[in-house]
Parts: sequence; structure tokens; C-alpha cells
Amino acid sequence: MSKLCNPLQSLRSGHWFKLICGASYQYLPAVQTLAWVYGLAGVDCIDVAADPAVVTAARQGLDRLDPALARPWLMVSLNDGEDPHFRKAQFDPATCPPDCPRPCAQICPALAIALPPQANGGVVADRCYGCGRCLPLCPHDRIQGHSTVCQPQELLPPILALGIDAVEIHTQIDRRAGFLDLWQVLLPHLSSLKLVAISCPAGTGAVDYLWSLYRAITPLPCPLIWQADGRPMSGDIGAGTTHATLTFAQALLAQGPPGYVQVAGGTNAYTVPKLGQLGLLRSPESPLLPLQGSPWVAGAAYGSYARRWLAPWLETLGTEPDGLDPADSSVSRDPPGLMDAVARAKTLVLPLKQPHLHRRLSL
Ligand code: SF4
Ligand code: SF4
Repeated sequence: MSKLCNPLQSLRSGHWFKLICGASYQYLPAVQTLAWVYGLAGVDCIDVAADPAVVTAARQGLDRLDPALARPWLMVSLNDGEDPHFRKAQFDPATCPPDCPRPCAQICPALAIALPPQANGGVVADRCYGCGRCLPLCPHDRIQGHSTVCQPQELLPPILALGIDAVEIHTQIDRRAGFLDLWQVLLPHLSSLKLVAISCPAGTGAVDYLWSLYRAITPLPCPLIWQADGRPMSGDIGAGTTHATLTFAQALLAQGPPGYVQVAGGTNAYTVPKLGQLGLLRSPESPLLPLQGSPWVAGAAYGSYARRWLAPWLETLGTEPDGLDPADSSVSRDPPGLMDAVARAKTLVLPLKQPHLHRRLSL
């Protein structure tokens, strides 16, 4: 694994890279592959669904990294109310006209809408991450989105027992009561966490809302990230999707409460160059990020774009090759394509880890 992986140092130096597997993405082979490959590429954190099976899959991916080196932190995402990140599309394929050209399946970035006999041709639930792109496309209005709100009392103990490092709470403006209910359940477990993140979409009153949360939850025993969630789950759509999070991050840096600011929601390969153009990236000569009044973001989180970036490998790398003796260290256990996948992942990770180097190389 890259020696660059030191999550706390990355936050302080403005080089924090978080991979988002998806708050409702439960396709275990892909989660394991994403954790493994992006771990090898040097990311600081892997953010997964709050599901013991998903956490276990991510941990299995991280367990394949060199144990002598630091590993990325493992984060789970929780919500305090209805949220598109925690949604699944559903429809009954038996009600679809047989001659439908299936635009829903063509638009789905996660290959979650199957051909029969898989899921009878409906949505494969564990692959759906709730992006919502299929919902308006059905000419017969067959598709519904179903959100879940986490039940932290039941959810948290088994998840925490798996040894996660960090928790992210997805909230929205004016959901203070729901947030504080969730916070009360989380409070006894804070001492076992290395980091708390709070994710919020932009909107009128968002900065004031986050200040009100900050006053209610501090002091904290660990660092705090404000995730400026621009245009959720859209980074793979096009370059312009990154603008919403950049604008929100600027507002948080100028007026938001103390804590690290991280961009997300619409992030893609254009995000780091745009951060640089806007003067939001710390230069190597500058002091480390202060907790309040920083002119720079601490880093960025990549979800749909990062998953699509590795699409050719997601179906093939997640399982061990058959017939290998686990005790035989003379046999390479790296499947074909692993190094290609890691090289590809690094092209997304390194511009944020080494922006000065990449700027120089591109001159
Ligand atoms: S398009 Fe999005 S919401 Fe629809 S099935 Fe695919 S992943 Fe789920
Ligand atoms: S577009 Fe609508 S009718 Fe056609 S296959 Fe998809 S869900 Fe069924």
C-alpha cells in the first residue's frame, strides 16, 4: 500500500481522500474489490453502508493490504431521516409491457436492473445505490424509490463490534431534532471512534443549521468533518456536477463552524483542478490546516465516479482465485488485472495527494 496513507495527517495537510462505496450499496464482491484496490492506491478512508455484511466485505478487502503499513479508516454512513443516499428503486417486472425497450436498465450506472431470470428482470437490490436516474425514465411509471431510515439502537452495536473507525451522519436543513436523537444513541460510542463526519446538502440556511449542530455536539473527543454534499451521486454524469459542492465548500470555509471541510456529491476528475483554480487547495509550503478559519478544504470524497472508474474490474477481482493453498506464500495471490486496476485508481487518487506534483507534470 502507498506510504501516503496516514488519515489524520492527510486531513491536516489537505490531502484527505475518501472513497464512498455508497450508503445503500450492498454488492459485496464490488465492495471488497473497491476497498482492496483503492486501499492499495493510498486512500485515507472507505465509507460503506451500515450493514454488518458490507462492513465485513470491506474489511476483507482491507485485510489483503500489507499489514505492516497503515490502512485506511473504515467509516459507516447513518441518516437521521429520508435521504436519497439510503434509497432503493423497486418495480414489479411482471407488470412491465413485454415490448418495453427498458430505458431503466440502460440508464442504470450500477447494472442493478437485470435481465431475466436474475431478479425476474427487476432491480437487484444489493446493486442499487439509489441514484434515482431510472425513476423518471419509465414511460409506464412502474418504478418507485423506497428510503430507509436507520435504527441506530439496533444497528450500531453489531457495526461497532466489527471495529469501524468513523461514522458519518447524513442530515438535512431543519432536521435538528432527528439529528439529536441519533446523536444521543451515538454519544456513548464516540470514544471508540477516530472521526465523525456530518454530511449536509447545500441550501438556504445550511451554514446556520450546521452551526446549531456544532453547538449541540461539541466538545468532541475526535476530529470533525463537514461534508459539503453538492449534487449527490452524480460525479459520473459530467464535469459540471462538481460545481455545487465547490460553492458550498467555499461558504463553509468562509462562515461555517470549526472542523475540516470536505467536498462530495458530484466529485470527479475535474474536482481537484477546479479546487486548485479557486485557491481551495493547500500548497506544500503553507502551514497545516487550522480547525477554524482555514482557507483550504481538507480533501474530497468520491463515490459514483470512483466506482465507475474501476467498472472493468468490479465483477472480477473480488474473489480469491480457485485452487490456491492459502498457506503457500510462493504463489502470487494477486489476480490478473490487479495492478492495472490499482494504476487506474491512482490516477484518481494522486492528483489530490500530490497536487503540486501533478500541476508541475501537466505544465
Ligand atoms: S438507476 Fe440508480 S436508482 Fe435506479 S436501479 Fe440503478 S442504481 Fe438504483
Ligand atoms: S422502463 Fe418501466 S416498464 Fe420498462 S422495463 Fe423499466 S420499469 Fe418496466
